[in-house]
Amino acid sequence: MPTILTFLGTGTSQGVPIIACQCPVCKSADPRDKRFRSAAFVKHDGCNILIDAGPDFRSQMLAADIRHLDAILLTHNHKDHTGGLDDVRSFNYIDRKAVEIYCEPRVLKSLLNDYSYAFAEHKYPGAPEWHVHTIDERPFRVNSLHGEGELEWVHDIGYFYRQKDGSLKPSDNAILEASHDNPNVIPIRGYHDEMPVLGFRFGNIAYITDFSRLPEEELAKLAGLEHLTLNTVGYHPHHSHFSLDQALELAGRIGAKHTWLTHLSHAFPSHPVFCDQLRERCRAMGIQSEVLPAYDGLEISD
Ligand SMILES: [Zn+2]
Ligand SMILES: [Zn+2]
Ligand SMILES: [Zn+2]
Repeated sequence: MPTILTFLGTGTSQGVPIIACQCPVCKSADPRDKRFRSAAFVKHDGCNILIDAGPDFRSQMLAADIRHLDAILLTHNHKDHTGGLDDVRSFNYIDRKAVEIYCEPRVLKSLLNDYSYAFAEHKYPGAPEWHVHTIDERPFRVNSLHGEGELEWVHDIGYFYRQKDGSLKPSDNAILEASHDNPNVIPIRGYHDEMPVLGFRFGNIAYITDFSRLPEEELAKLAGLEHLTLNTVGYHPHHSHFSLDQALELAGRIGAKHTWLTHLSHAFPSHPVFCDQLRERCRAMGIQSEVLPAYDGLEISD
C-alpha cells in the first residue's frame, strides 16, 4: 500500500496571511498563498497519522474531512505545533477513545505544563482524552485503532470507562512508552536552534520541519526517498530554521526525487513566482531534486 501525505498547513508560526499585514503575498487571491500553521496528515501502513496539532487543528481537520485519527506525532513543543491539542475532544466523542499522541519526554513535559487540566487528578469534565507515548530516536510503531472505544461521555460529568459490572470508572490520561517492535515510523533527529526536534520517515516519504541543523549521521536515514519535506522561513540566515539556500543545498545532498518546502513565510513571493524562482535557483546550484513549495491541500504519494 502506498504512503500518502497531505499537507494540512505549510505556513510559518503566524500563518499566511499574517494578521493585519498588507503585503502582496498576504493580500494574494491565490489559494496556494493561504497557509495554515504547519502540519501533515499521513496514511501509512493502514494508519491515519497526524504530524503536529497547531492552532489551526480544527480548521485543518474540517478542510481535509478527517474523520478518524490513529496517532498524533509531535515534532517539538512550540505552540504552532501543539496549540490545537485540546480540540482532539471531537475525536474522543466520535471514536469513544483517547487519542494516541507520540512525542519525546521533553515535549510531554511541556504538555503537562500547558495542559495541566488534562492530567489533573480530578479532571475537569470534558477535558481531552490522551494516551501519550514517549519516543526517542529509535524507530517505533503506531497501530491502527479503528473501531469504537469504550469511553462514555456522561452528560456534564465527563468521560468514563464502563466496567463489566456496569459501573463507570473515571478515565485517565495515561503516559506510556511507545512500542519498538515491528516499527513503521523512523524518527530523524534535528536541531531547531539548540532545541532537539524530530522529523519522521514513513516508507519513502520523510517530513522534516523546524530544523536549522541536520546532523551528518542522520543522512543515511533519508536515502532513497521519493518525497522529502524541508522547512525554510526566508532568504536570510535564521537562528532556528533553514534559510532557503541551506534547504536547497540539503535537498541536493539528500537527493529525494521531489523536495517540498514548508513552514513558509510571507517573505517568499506568490506561489507561481516562487516556483519559477526555485527552478532557476536549483538549475544554478546544480540541484537534481525537483524542489517546489508545498501548499495546503497538496497530496503526495510514494
Ligand atoms: Zn514551527
Ligand atoms: Zn504579509
Ligand atoms: Zn518551532
